Amino acid sequence: MIRQSLLGCLLGTAVGDSLGLPYEGLRSRRAARLFGPPDHHRFIFGRGMVSDDTEHACFVVRALIESRLDPIQFEQSLARSLKWWLASVPAGVGKATAQAILKIGLGFAPDKSGVFSAGNGPAMRSPLLGVVFAGHPERMKEFVKRSTRMTHSDPKAYWGALCAALAASISTGQKPITPQEFLSVVQESLKEEPAEEFIALLVGACQSAASSEPVSEFAKTIGCTKGISGYIFHTVPCVIQVWLRHQQDFAAGIQEMIAAGGDTDTTAAILGGIIGAGVGVEGIPAAWIQGIWEWPRSVKWMTHLAAALDQTIAGESVLVPGYCIPAIPIRNIIFLLIVLSHGLRRLLPPY
Ligand SMILES: [Mg+2]
Repeated sequence: MIRQSLLGCLLGTAVGDSLGLPYEGLRSRRAARLFGPPDHHRFIFGRGMVSDDTEHACFVVRALIESRLDPIQFEQSLARSLKWWLASVPAGVGKATAQAILKIGLGFAPDKSGVFSAGNGPAMRSPLLGVVFAGHPERMKEFVKRSTRMTHSDPKAYWGALCAALAASISTGQKPITPQEFLSVVQESLKEEPAEEFIALLVGACQSAASSEPVSEFAKTIGCTKGISGYIFHTVPCVIQVWLRHQQDFAAGIQEMIAAGGDTDTTAAILGGIIGAGVGVEGIPAAWIQGIWEWPRSVKWMTHLAAALDQTIAGESVLVPGYCIPAIPIRNIIFLLIVLSHGLRRLLPPY
C-alpha cells in the first residue's frame, strides 16, 4: 500500500503542477476566457511540463533514499539538491527559496540558511513526508521542520507545511476523514505552537468544506480576491478545503483548485500529492499522466524513484535512479522559452 501511495503522491504532484502551470497567476475569469476549463494539458501542444513543485518533491524523495531516512543526512542531501537545482537556472523559483539556496551556496548550514518568509515553498515538499511517516507523527514533524527551515524560517511556513503533510498521511490510510476530525488532528499536532491564527483559518476552511462551499467562495473570505496567493496561510487552508470535499476524486478536486486561480501550479501540486496518496495512480486520470512531456526526469523515472523509496523504507540499501544530468540545462532552456511564450500570449485578448 505504501508503494501505491508514494507513487500516487509523486505523480499526483506532477499532474497537478503540470495542469495548473498554464493558469498560474491568472484570475479565474481571465483564465477561463483564455484557456477554458483545466480538463487537459495546455502547456505546449496539448502536453504538460512540470515546475519547481514537482522538482522539489523529487529532491525530497532523493534525499530520503540517500539518507536512508536519517534526518541529518536527509537535510544535507536536500540542501545539496537545491544548490544544484538553482545552479541549473530553473524558470520558476520563489524569492525566499532563491535567497536561501544562495546562502546554502555561500556555506550556511541548512538549519541557518532559511529566510524569514511564509511563502508556500515548504508545503510543496511536505506531502511526500506525510506519506513516508504516516503513523509516526514525531518523525514527520522532524523531517518537515528540516525540509522547511532550510528555505523558510518563519514558523508559519512550518505550520502550513506540517498541515499538508498531515493531510497526506491521513490520505495514505485511505479512510475518508470529516472536516472536524481533521481539525482535531492538526490542533493536536500544533498544540505546543503559537499557531492560533493558522488554526482559526483552518477552522474556517473546515466549516466551509462541511457546508460544501466552493473553494473560490472560501478563498474570498480569507482575503484571496484575485485567486489563491502563494502565502502559505492562503495556500494551505484552500488546499485543505478542496481536499476535504474531494478525498476520493482526484479529477474533480484538481479542476476546482485550478479554476479558483492564483498560484495554481503549486495549489494543484500540493492537492494532487495529498489526494494522489489516497487514490494511487489508478485514481489519477491516465491521460493526465501520459500527457506529461518531461525529460530526462520523465514519468518513468519518477516511477522508478518512488519504487526506490519504497525499498528504502523496507530497509533495503538502494541507489537513486539515474538520469542524463547534462540534459537538464537543455530541458530548462526549452521550458523557459515555453514559459516566455505563455507570457507573451497573455498580453493578447481575450481579456
Ligand atoms: Mg511552480
